[in-house]
Amino acid sequence: MSVKDCVFCKIVTGQIPVTKVFEDDVVLAFLDIGPISDGHTLVVPKQHFEKLHDCDAGLLSQVGSRLGKIAGAVAAGMSCDGYNVLCNNGRAAGQLVEHLHFHIIPRNLGDGIFERWPAYKYKQGLIETIAAKIRKKF
Ligand code: AMP
Ligand code: ZN
Repeated sequence: MSVKDCVFCKIVTGQIPVTKVFEDDVVLAFLDIGPISDGHTLVVPKQHFEKLHDCDAGLLSQVGSRLGKIAGAVAAGMSCDGYNVLCNNGRAAGQLVEHLHFHIIPRNLGDGIFERWPAYKYKQGLIETIAAKIRKKF
């Protein structure tokens, strides 16, 4: 997706209105238009990157430092019991808008929004094989 067609770039440049909760030179945070809980917030870097690993490390650390501050404000403002921070990367992972963003989702005990995911155990030896595949990509 080009920057020209990117919904979040249009939001960052003010072409699409949103309900902002925080803005500085690095990030914009606004309320998700399709929330899964009250206060569901999106944090987007102002610069366009599609996925987490596309983002320059220096900029990512700047985004990360704001993410904690924004999550704290969302949690305090919503008086929730907890929150999830989600970052969907790629269509297979549920990413609909191809501009890096973090969801901050206020949670309350028993809200039933997410159940535990379907965890399983590795077959004998597989955990080491998989770790080796990943390690060699650094
Ligand atoms: P994702 O599936 O991680 O790509 O999530 C994209 C999110 O962006 C969805 O939760 C949408 O509801 C949200 N979204 C899309 N367009 C807008 C918009 N104009 N204003 C606020 N949130 C939006
Ligand atoms: Zn964009």
